[in-house]
Amino acid sequence: MTTSHYIAGHWVEGQGSDCISVNNPALGQPFAELMAASVSQVDQAVAAARSALPAWKSTCASERAAFLRGFAEQLGQRREALVTLQMRNNGKPRHEAEIDLDDAIATFGYYAGLAEQLPSKNRTVPLAAPGFTARTRLEPVGVVGLIVPWNFPLVTSAWKLAPALAAGCTVVLKPSEVTPLIEQAYGQIADALGLPAGVLNIVNGKAETGAALSNHNGLDKLSFTGSNSVGSQVMRSASAQCRPVTLELGGKSAIVVFDDCDVDQAVEWIVAGISWNAGQMCSATSRLLVQDGIADALLPRLQAALENLRVGNPLTEEVDMGPLTSQAQWLKVASYFATAREEGLQCLAGGHALDREGWFVSPTLYTDVPKDSRLWTEEIFGPVLCARRFATEEQAIAEANDSRFGLVATVCSADLERAERVADALEVGHVWINSVQAVFVETSWGGTKGSGIGRELGPWGLSAYQSVKHVTRCLG
Ligand code: NAD
Repeated sequence: MTTSHYIAGHWVEGQGSDCISVNNPALGQPFAELMAASVSQVDQAVAAARSALPAWKSTCASERAAFLRGFAEQLGQRREALVTLQMRNNGKPRHEAEIDLDDAIATFGYYAGLAEQLPSKNRTVPLAAPGFTARTRLEPVGVVGLIVPWNFPLVTSAWKLAPALAAGCTVVLKPSEVTPLIEQAYGQIADALGLPAGVLNIVNGKAETGAALSNHNGLDKLSFTGSNSVGSQVMRSASAQCRPVTLELGGKSAIVVFDDCDVDQAVEWIVAGISWNAGQMCSATSRLLVQDGIADALLPRLQAALENLRVGNPLTEEVDMGPLTSQAQWLKVASYFATAREEGLQCLAGGHALDREGWFVSPTLYTDVPKDSRLWTEEIFGPVLCARRFATEEQAIAEANDSRFGLVATVCSADLERAERVADALEVGHVWINSVQAVFVETSWGGTKGSGIGRELGPWGLSAYQSVKHVTRCLG
């Protein structure tokens, strides 16, 4: 049993009723257990964040920046433990777990830099009218609740924690019950750095704990990353209290491949977009739109590339793709395989769970998938790629945009003018051109349509935790 809640600067045992099993998905077996936080522990965490707020928001920005740099440094010092834990609990291949850690480190470093610039952001505002002066002050939103999923635990939490702390907010973080140990590192680092008690609180638990946090009337803002169904509940609780909410939700993103592409290069980008993290990415490019002129050459090579991926236990084998992270996710993906069979989809690769211990599925490719297929329209969150052919640029844009989601897209073309034009026409928050999904902390993250509200990363990620105050003075 692990003690895993960090409240008001203390590690405490959960007093909730749920026992959470922490699993190794490659074996399908638990390796740790913890008790969820109770509703009253969520209250305590929010109260701790509230009482820490006045002092924290009054610290000078350079002091907050020093703490953020400390987080970056200490994450690096815990590299091996954190990489191994992600491999063990998420099933991530080592190189992916390393990249996640580096992303989290870069995020804390970047927001330390933005925090240092904060004083210069308070400005005098020139007024057309005489007799008055006006100035702006950027203030922290206040106490924020952060609720995150399991697929990139270190990263998703860093994208929220670092800008929130930089802005001068105090926080209550609720990690996913699937990966409740990884973000404990943030509490341990807070301890090691002497972060004032209550600035960062961590409560673990399932839906009940998340709901207790999102319904809490002691918060000034909520930032949620997760599924659309829970996101809409979180939005309802925010609307009940008329408070701001950032939502980073699901996706069903397109990768558009024009026939002037190098086939092997395009295959590499397509495979990365669907097999990274075993396809458990909000940004998985799970809808392949391939132009008629290249489809017959590309699809067999794509099939071979998917079949050649080394799928296995990242702790004991050299792998390209690990298991799905939870049994629930494995069952969900298997149910889509069954739907595909019922719909009579043409399967070029995979289409089944692997016959071995653990929660493994094969990398999967369906072709000529009808536009109304559930596999074409719904987020599966696994390594399941659906392909359709297109003739013209206009058709590709229309089909890519024909989705209730709008998170990301990838465009592959040797004609860069066209690629840029198509990127501009896609109704999404982030587009890659001729690239794997490289995410840089200076750029933005977030979606349009059903993929969410607001942006993380870059200066927009910091603005999400700030409010603007104007001070207008009459000179008369
Ligand atoms: P989820 O919505 O089931 O859970 C997310 C978090 O919400 C967890 O911490 C969970 O315990 C909590 N929760 C559950 N019920 C709650 C409730 N009633 N009230 C408050 N909190 C509650 O999502 P998941 O399965 O953990 O993650 C997968 C989803 O996350 C996918 O849809 C994926 O696309 C999305 N996601 C989006 C992004 C993005 O940046 N847009 C990034 C990663 C994941």
